[in-house]
Amino acid sequence: MRIKTIVDEDFTNYKKASMFIGTISCGGKCCIEAGIPLSVCQNDGWRSCAPIAMSDRQICMRYMANPLTNAIVIGGLEPFEQAKEVRKLVWMLRNVFMCDDDVVIYTGYTPDEIEEEVKLLSEFKNIIIKYGRYVPNAKTRYDDVLGVNLVSDNQYAVKIS
Ligand code: SF4
Repeated sequence: MRIKTIVDEDFTNYKKASMFIGTISCGGKCCIEAGIPLSVCQNDGWRSCAPIAMSDRQICMRYMANPLTNAIVIGGLEPFEQAKEVRKLVWMLRNVFMCDDDVVIYTGYTPDEIEEEVKLLSEFKNIIIKYGRYVPNAKTRYDDVLGVNLVSDNQYAVKIS
């Protein structure tokens, strides 16, 4: 899977200690729709970074080797711009490494925009999706599913499987 960052132990995006994987692109929908510069996007810093080449097997092995983490979070930029790659990674985790740990996906899309992709992902156990645009200066909101504060109060997470 093409990624821009990988953090072995992250405690900020989910209630469980997680490996965090940053995806490679986002067209900037939150900023474009709000009529504000892309630089306001909370993930803008990642746009200029070069992708890292890591195979799905390498990512899974790295995750499985760390006894401290028990979830994987896939986040910004926009994971659903590479939905097929995300599915392949989850497939390998579930079917080759036989690991059913939670996989949390942070998207800026709303459910109606990614219905088909979500349906395909729901074939795997324990998938959680955080939906909704980033709205600058919105109120934060504590999300019970994730167990963390989300930056905009229109955002929420759902356990889809
Ligand atoms: S979806 Fe994420 S990366 Fe894309 S514009 Fe919104 S906040 Fe930025």
